[in-house]
Order: sequence, then structure tokens, then C-alpha cells
Amino acid sequence: MARRSKINLVKGMKDILPDEQNYWNLIKEKVDKIAYNYGFSRLDTPLVEYTDLFKRSIGEETDIVNKEMYSFTTKGGNKLSLRPESTASIVRSYIEHGMLNLPQPVKLYYFGQQFRHDKPQKGRYRQFWQFGFEALGDNDPIIDAQLIAISYFILQELGLDIEIQINSIGDEESRKKYLKVLKQYYNLQKNKLCAACQKRLVKNTLRLLDCKNYKCQELTEEAPQILDYLNEESRDNFMMVLEYLDELDIVYNLNTKIVRGLDYYNKTAWEIGEKGQGGKLLAFGGGGRYDGLASLLGGRETPAVGFAIGVERVIMALHKNKIEIPKIEKPDIYVAQLGSEARKEALKLFEYLRKEDFKAIENMSKKGLRDQLDIAHRKGVKYTLILGQKEINDNTVLIRDMESGVQEIIDINKVKKEIEKRLVKSVTKSIILKTKKKKKIVKKKTKKKKKIVKKKTKKKKK
Ligand code: AMP
Repeated sequence: MARRSKINLVKGMKDILPDEQNYWNLIKEKVDKIAYNYGFSRLDTPLVEYTDLFKRSIGEETDIVNKEMYSFTTKGGNKLSLRPESTASIVRSYIEHGMLNLPQPVKLYYFGQQFRHDKPQKGRYRQFWQFGFEALGDNDPIIDAQLIAISYFILQELGLDIEIQINSIGDEESRKKYLKVLKQYYNLQKNKLCAACQKRLVKNTLRLLDCKNYKCQELTEEAPQILDYLNEESRDNFMMVLEYLDELDIVYNLNTKIVRGLDYYNKTAWEIGEKGQGGKLLAFGGGGRYDGLASLLGGRETPAVGFAIGVERVIMALHKNKIEIPKIEKPDIYVAQLGSEARKEALKLFEYLRKEDFKAIENMSKKGLRDQLDIAHRKGVKYTLILGQKEINDNTVLIRDMESGVQEIIDINKVKKEIEKRLVKSVTKSIILKTKKKKKIVKKKTKKKKKIVKKKTKKKKK
């Protein structure tokens, strides 16, 4: 048959290869663990939602909704989109399932794919993963602080050097006052703004503060700051958030340019990342309070706060910072077979070991024993069980200690007991070896200390 053309990966997409899975597992485990401790339950929402959900929540003027959404009309005429983020879906689900009748706050988290038709580049994909935490139904600033703490501790405990940048955009009253002066300030220099900001000036002035254009950034340096316009309630609220962070020894920097730019956002806003060149934050994600979102989506007024972090960016940083992560655990047992009869028995033996919860592996399609022992070595197993015609006839199996190469014949009916005995022994052996090593190190250290003390006392005597 003629060779067909090759079908490649879709632009902007990424395979997560087997070698990378331990990074993903590590982050998932950390997220699950901290969620459990802080009482967050996992909520998985669909990848597809009504386009209107995102239009209303993220805003029609944003790049995400305007340019980056994968939207389509179904055969039934429904206008749907692949989700570009998850907060809107979480809030939709909270409203739809009547979660406001549960004890508040309702704490939810997710770990899933997002889709944005962004320009692909290093660390930026069209399908990427985010995990996020959302607490709905409580306006106490301690919840804001706890969410910041969760975002901080997950990343810090992965070994990253984390920086938090934080701001308060106040409540509606504060923002109204602030927006008036901000508009005046930019209006006076309107012609220096980029084209996009000239448009934003009318509808979404706050967004000017985080424009990436350097000329706009220059103007923003001198712009009035929101913190000077917070009313008493907003200021007290922000101070409480900062106080709680201080209690947890979380270091943060105030950054008055962090705004979320949409009407339903209020009070706390933060970004989290690591310091890049020139002290700029390389963001892994961000969060904020969004007390106005539930009512915008047709629910009752519900205070809420949450954050989202990009998984690929975190993994990139783990690689960049050469952070060692736990390797996938090595198996204990390899089942090898020689000859067609033995192969059939080996199939059953392997299934038996697997059901008994042994960390066993196999390669039944391999025929030669050398091949199979090579694999067993490479995989780092402790013991290989070898079944050949002779063993089948005698109801036995050979067990080979992969370290010493010593082989023993054991009764096939006692295989479980015999393996367990040996595994316990090998664990004890490795513990003894480790303690011996430790003792050696301690001895060396005390010797060194003694030497130093001797030297010091000699010096003193002199
Ligand atoms: P956002 O939802 O835009 O606030 O983004 C939060 C985080 O998600 C970012 O800081 C990135 O870590 C990650 N992120 C956003 N867009 C992408 C993308 N296109 N590819 C990979 N990660 C992304």
C-alpha cells in the first residue's frame, strides 16, 4: 500500500510524554493534598460551555473572548465554546446545583485543560492546564489570605523561589472615586497612549495599568495609585489580608498595577510567580476577589475569591531551576518465562502477583531469557522469577536476586510467602546500610568538629 502522509500534532498543542508524567503527578499530588487539608473539594466541569458564560464573565472586550476562544455552533444551533478558564464554570455550577444552600464558604478546586487560540510560543500553548481554588459565599478577608497562602505554599513546597505581588482594587465606591482621577490623568496625555489603550480609556480604564506597551507603562509609573483612594472599609479589609499573610510569614510586595479590570472584581488581587530578569515577575498565575460574578451569571449576590495557576509554566520553572523531583518508584519483581508452556503459566503467575499487590512487571512477548533479565536490570527490580519447562514440571519457580545473581528454587505454591520474606529482608538490609552510612557521616562530622575545637583551644592557649 502507498505510504500515506503523516498527521502531526495540531499547532499550539502538546503531548505530555511518559517521561514528563512524574512532574504532573507531583503537582497533582501536592494540589490534592493541600486541598484536602484546607477543606477544598474537587469539582470537574465540562470542557464545553455556552459561549455566553464566558462573554458575560470574562467580558466581551477582553482578548480572551474577542480573539482567543474556540467557539462553534452545533448542529442543533447552540453557540458553544471550549473553556478558556474555569472560574466561570465553577460559579455556574455553584449556582446550578444550589450550593448556596450548603454551609458557606463552599470551597472548590479544579485541575484541568483550558483552550485559548493564543500565539503559540515557549510556555504558551493553545491547550494548557491550570489548577485553581475558589471559595464562594464568604467575604471574610481571612479567606483571601488563605487562598493566597495556598497558592504560595503549593509552589514554594515544590521548591520554587516564590514571590507574591498584591494589590487591592477596593470596593465599588473606592473604585469610582479612583477611576475618575485615573481617567483625568490619562486623558491629559491621551495621544501618548497605544491605540488599544485609547479605546480602553473609555470603557475599561483600569486595564491601562497593566498594558505591556512600554510607552503606556512609562505613563503608568506616574499615575495616581488606587491605594490612596480606598475607603475605610476597603482599607481595613486589605490591612487584615496583609496581617494574616504576615502571621504566615508570607513575603509579599505591593504592586498597585495589578488590576483585574472587570466590574465584578473587587478588593484583593494578586499575582504569583518567580523573579525574572530586571526584577520583573514571571507569573505562574494570579487570583482575586470577585464578589460580583455570581449575580452577573444569574445567581444571588455571592462573595467569592479564587486563583488559577498554569501547570506548564510551573513545570518549566522546575526544569529551569533544576529542581529534583521524586522518581517513579522502582518495581520489585520481574516475571520472566522461557518456552511456550511456561509463558502460559507466567501469564497467570503475573496476574496473581498483581492482584496480591506486588510491584511486579513483565514482558511476555520477549522470548530470550537474556533479553528479559536485561530489562529487569534496567527497571531496577530486586528479584526476577523465572519459569521454564523444568519448573512447570516440578511445580517450582526460580527466584533470582538481581544484586547478587544468586538463584534459588522455590515451591510455586509458596511464591507469595517466599517473595515477601525476601522483600522484608532487602528492606531491612537497605535500612541497615543507610544507618551505617549515616553513622559514618556523623563520625566524620564529629571528627571534624573535634579537630576544629582542638585547633581553637590550641590558638587560645597561644
Ligand atoms: P490567566 O487565566 O490569564 O490569569 O492565566 C493564569 C496563568 O495560566 C498564567 O499565569 C499562565 O501560567 C497560565 N496560562 C495562561 N495562558 C496560557 C497559555 N496560553 N499557555 C500556557 N499557560 C498559560
